[in-house]
Amino acid sequence: MSEVPGTTRDRIIGDVEWDGRVFTLVDTGGLEGETGDPLKEKVRAQVEMAIEESDLVLFVVDAEEGLNPLDEEIAQWLRRLEKPLITIANKADNVQREATAAEFHRLGLGEPLLMSAYHNLGTQDLMEQILGLLPEWKGKVEETKGVPKLAIIGRTNVGKSMLMNAILGEERAIVSDVAGTTRDSLDTRFVYKDKPMVLIDTAGMRRRGQIRPGIEKYSVLRSVKAVERCDIALVVLDAMEIATEQDTHIFGMAMDAFKGIIVVVNKWDLAPQETGTEQEVAIQLIRRRFHFMPYAPIVFTSALESQGIQDILDLALEIYEERGREVPQNQLRRLMNDAWVSRPPSNVRGRRLELYQVRQVDTHPPTFVFNVNEPTIHFSYRRYLENKIRQTFGFRHTHLRLVFKRRSE
Ligand code: GDP
Repeated sequence: MSEVPGTTRDRIIGDVEWDGRVFTLVDTGGLEGETGDPLKEKVRAQVEMAIEESDLVLFVVDAEEGLNPLDEEIAQWLRRLEKPLITIANKADNVQREATAAEFHRLGLGEPLLMSAYHNLGTQDLMEQILGLLPEWKGKVEETKGVPKLAIIGRTNVGKSMLMNAILGEERAIVSDVAGTTRDSLDTRFVYKDKPMVLIDTAGMRRRGQIRPGIEKYSVLRSVKAVERCDIALVVLDAMEIATEQDTHIFGMAMDAFKGIIVVVNKWDLAPQETGTEQEVAIQLIRRRFHFMPYAPIVFTSALESQGIQDILDLALEIYEERGREVPQNQLRRLMNDAWVSRPPSNVRGRRLELYQVRQVDTHPPTFVFNVNEPTIHFSYRRYLENKIRQTFGFRHTHLRLVFKRRSE
């Protein structure tokens, strides 16, 4: 997802659960001294970005090697950031190394925690310290429940920042834009047609300028986290360069997370004079490249001229409503039984496929479980059933999940 090849190397992102709490752990590339090597510069920029986005920094030093000048250089930098921090002296697996680890006191970052990842020593202590230092989310997440959350994602320079500003244009009252009201301080709450909505800042748009120029400002971590938390992802494309390979990756990320998607073709003011055909051509191209989600709506916008913004927000409200919709169970059962009988699926290894039960088990997105005797249902048959549900219950733009489970009778 990153613009520049190599910028994301060595970065591993994962959710960790410990003692009933979940947090995201980011493993960055290793820092090296000032070398002028552009790749190492990029690793450093990624580390800076990761730290900027984090609530807690784990600074790992080597108890076997002891204190080295680079540790001091990094420590000096970390002290200035004033972020909660734990220094971990790793490889502290014998008495002598424990003594060596004491040297790290000199870094002025507090007592180093002695660990041996290899012998699995110190993990419990570390986790307790981590949980103690992480901010408390309790009660805050609830506030945005039931409120559609939008994330703007896309390549660098497609116009995400400008679009964010256009969405939050003067006529829409910003409810709050400060830390504490939502789970992330970069969320902005606003009201559209009397409905509260949340916009998640994915591109570092609000903090522009704090990131070094020339180095990518599009953060993979921020995007992944934003997509996970959002209800609807606005996948922004550049009208002058539609549906590139990278756009397809970004689209895929939102699709795999089962999120609502609106494809936004921005900078439409730069497209050739509109005769109607240009839009048709663009739509065909997008449909061909993003063929997995034919129901994702496509909107043409100019963030620069504030055109098409309402279309985005109207669609977002519609998709959010669809994603939360529950259909009447008996109507669903009848519909699916009729569909099954009027056009039965083809036999699998000579066996006739039976549908025993169908239920909607979830929303966001609407999820339907089919109990069948043989869950290998052909793709085109799934599509057939899905389209019946779409047409009957008016699901126009949302993703639907159909899950087939084996049951003997
Ligand atoms: P981001 O990297 O995706 O956040 O993109 P920016 O919002 O920084 O915009 C990148 C460039 O495209 C800037 O020079 C903007 O002025 C320009 N831009 C953004 N939206 C539009 C638009 O709708 N029309 C035109 N003509 N230019 C735009």
